[in-house]
Amino acid sequence: MINLTITDALKKLKSREISAVELARAHIARIEKYGAELNAYITTTPERALADAAAADARYANGTARVMDGIPIGMKDLFATRGIRTTAASRMLENFVPEYESTISQKFIDAGTALLGKTNLDEFAMGTFSKTSYFGAPINPWQRTRKLTAGGSSGGSTSAVAAGLAMGATGTDTGGSIRFPASITGLVGVKPTYGLCSRWGCVAFASSLDTPGPIARTVNDAALMLSIMAGHDDKDSTSANVNITFDGELRPIFGTGKPVRIGIVKEFADTQISSDMKRIFDARIADMKSAGAEVVEISIPNILDALAAYYIIAPAEASSNLARYDGMRYGLRVDGSDLIDTYKKTRACGFGDEVKRRLVIGAAVLSSESYDVYFMQAARVRRLIADAFNSAFQKCDFIICPAGAGTALPLDSDLSPLEYYALDLFTVAMNLAGVPAVSVPAGLAENGLPLGVQVVAPRFADMEMLRMARHIEEFAGVDNRPTVIMGEKR
Ligand code: GLN
Repeated sequence: MINLTITDALKKLKSREISAVELARAHIARIEKYGAELNAYITTTPERALADAAAADARYANGTARVMDGIPIGMKDLFATRGIRTTAASRMLENFVPEYESTISQKFIDAGTALLGKTNLDEFAMGTFSKTSYFGAPINPWQRTRKLTAGGSSGGSTSAVAAGLAMGATGTDTGGSIRFPASITGLVGVKPTYGLCSRWGCVAFASSLDTPGPIARTVNDAALMLSIMAGHDDKDSTSANVNITFDGELRPIFGTGKPVRIGIVKEFADTQISSDMKRIFDARIADMKSAGAEVVEISIPNILDALAAYYIIAPAEASSNLARYDGMRYGLRVDGSDLIDTYKKTRACGFGDEVKRRLVIGAAVLSSESYDVYFMQAARVRRLIADAFNSAFQKCDFIICPAGAGTALPLDSDLSPLEYYALDLFTVAMNLAGVPAVSVPAGLAENGLPLGVQVVAPRFADMEMLRMARHIEEFAGVDNRPTVIMGEKR
């Protein structure tokens, strides 16, 4: 049962061939078997999943089933869940139990899903390997002989979905945290248009960049999840007044008589990517050409400066957002000799090294001496990049580019902070511009590990983007079923 797509499971649930409780049990058993090894979840909620599933079965029985009724999912532990601890993978929030439900998790409740638990991540979503988690890193299920990263920051979600510990999961993408982990675990990871999915109740990292989105095994499943997550929310002032409709099937983009123009980013041509990525990328472009696409070169002149701009803007916003963790309101409190000492001790104890590094960088670039030379410059670069994307989309309908340079690296890779930051090269520009992007499995490297390619689209063309991604998924034909991944016999 764990090999089913969400789309197929819904058909079987509807026809009553399987029950939601059976489906939940299969996933709970899988979590019992592999949960500890993969460290995909920070908190599991099996009783809740079974109760949700039983309610879904009752609705199937009386004809009131909802759009994702009875589908077991994981929720990134950045989304506040009422009565269920929400940690952001930080010691600061180790024992924080929210009294409210985030908009995104509420939408999944309303859609009838069964909550399996809260998935692991980098502390406050800052990182690329999920190694900054206070609860230890999740593992990539594609290789069991050597521990590989499942990516970050949504690495618990990708580990869980790839290994069959959930049928789909939520993520958040501030600079690549959905797309990069999806690309190295053979999954589909969608960073929607900024403002399409509400951030309300999601622990803030960098508010002008944070984007909730879905992680699933197929493009169709991701489209379904996105249609649930999208929509205006009065509680988020940056929420767009745009809804997405999805009738269960993504229509093809090729063969409709309408020309399809694919843009390739000129500036990415000189970047270092693995020979596997190059081969797979070229093969998928060739497939698109055969399907009728016209391939054009486009230019985003400042795209290689996106990293520098991002690593100024994101820490700046983080230093402001994380000021609230002072031991006074909620979360950890370590008493000191006076108020200031309590602040210091609480923050010194509650935050890990990477978070502290970001807070120091953020405070520095916002200081009066640095504001103009760093923060304002970064904001200008951001504007140039956003404008360049707009111009590029006059020449093409979609941009195709790698999601990362290569396959999953060993978890114990000894990288410097700057080397980690550099891994975001292919993803951060889309966050700065606010445009949607998806990583879709594009092929397997020689070592048998998956690689993802990105489709980028104009703002709010999220569903068209997924229609294109669906073609790439078909061309690539990567078998990413969980039993294959964990090396079990079917
Ligand atoms: N790797 C990037 C960072 O560390 C992106 C994180 C994210 O998207 N949440 O900031």
